[in-house]
Amino acid sequence: MAYIEPAPIKDSENPLESMMERFNLAAEKLGLSDEVYNVLKNPAKQVIVSLPITMDNGKIQVFEGIRVIHSNILGPAKGGIRFAPDVHLDEVKALAAWMTWKCAVVDIPYGGGKGGVKCNPREMSKGEIERLMRAYTLAMIDVFGPDKDIPAPDMGTGPREMAWLMDEYSKAHGMTVNAVVTGKPLVLGGSLGRTEATGRGVMVSALAAMQKLKINPFQATCAVQGFGNVGSWASLLLEERGLKIVAISDISGAYHNTNGINIQEAIDYRDGNNGTLEGFKGAEKLADAMEILELDVDVLVPAAVEDVITIHNVDRIKAKLIVEGANGPTSAKADAIINEKGIMAVPDILANAGGVTVSYFEWVQNRLGYKWTAERVNRRSDRIMKDAFDHVYEASIKYDVPMRIAAYIVAIDKVAKTYTYRGGF
Ligand code: NAD
Repeated sequence: MAYIEPAPIKDSENPLESMMERFNLAAEKLGLSDEVYNVLKNPAKQVIVSLPITMDNGKIQVFEGIRVIHSNILGPAKGGIRFAPDVHLDEVKALAAWMTWKCAVVDIPYGGGKGGVKCNPREMSKGEIERLMRAYTLAMIDVFGPDKDIPAPDMGTGPREMAWLMDEYSKAHGMTVNAVVTGKPLVLGGSLGRTEATGRGVMVSALAAMQKLKINPFQATCAVQGFGNVGSWASLLLEERGLKIVAISDISGAYHNTNGINIQEAIDYRDGNNGTLEGFKGAEKLADAMEILELDVDVLVPAAVEDVITIHNVDRIKAKLIVEGANGPTSAKADAIINEKGIMAVPDILANAGGVTVSYFEWVQNRLGYKWTAERVNRRSDRIMKDAFDHVYEASIKYDVPMRIAAYIVAIDKVAKTYTYRGGF
């Protein structure tokens, strides 16, 4: 099959372009020099490999694998591997840069990376996926490494694939190297607290923001779009902290109850119902699932997919606070209106960084050869998230910019300063 060069990203509402628009704004505010701007804009390394795999029918199929290291200025690159049919280099480059800013904003010693294999795991057997993962690992054997580049799961991959990666990498090195990858099953050195980490970080960010906005959690209402890993954990933990969760949604629709939804009941229902809320009786189904974003609530948590708050609906948003659990839920064009309306938006690179923070803890534990309790993981990640929120908030005051641009300022400033100390050639 011929390699087709992917078309450049044209859609102006594309979340990846949105990132660059915000990066540019922050760079301008910081007065970043053109030289450093160019260093940070361009990825440090891009690797493309061909992976010939023997399929179950005996035929050989060649897959394309990509790994991009955007930056290793702060430390080894960190970022997921996605298995998806539409993976392409431009996307991986942008996602790798996103990881650089996310790690920098929470002040963990990592650069940014991302990888992908163009394939459709839903149409592949377990054996085919395993061979592909092992082939990809071997092809990237000189790229990956606990001190060089540490992958993790992303779309289409999970703990199972990370276990194969760890095993293949370890075999090639003649020893067990579990710190080469995070998001592993617990028995292979995964960390306690990882499953709930992103939702937990969303909760910490939301509470910190509510304190600044003087919203009492015990009198606040909240709507959460997306009821997967991030959305359901964020809902549960916010409910535990006193908020009334009046609406939740997933791919099956949005469910609204002004008296508050019992989140544990909703989770139990979803878990016993093939993973969806379809037919959930604890709330009324809204006619249009996107209405969840427009409800009269104090806090809105988009935790499903990208690009859901756009110029087409931002006018109708009534929440005082948006905490972005998902990556890229708000398009750059909607930012200006959010700011005009006086809504505080805690951006994705800050609000959902709890996951990468606990991935970092997994790597730390693997290197120590020691396991932390869930209590220690939670306490330390809460502290990192709260400190990061405070730094970004201070930057938003200092530079008189919204939280989103402030987060990019904190991140870019950190990477740029470190680069200036380390120097180039
Ligand atoms: P998930 O697959 O567990 O859950 C996604 C949820 O969104 C599901 O409930 C699904 O039904 C729902 N959904 C999908 N399309 C929808 C739509 N159009 N409208 C409403 N709901 C829809 O995924 P997740 O891990 O919870 O990730 C959610 C978002 O958070 C993604 O943007 C992801 O990139 C981001 N994120 C996740 C993590 C993590 O640790 N899991 C970390 C950082 C960022």
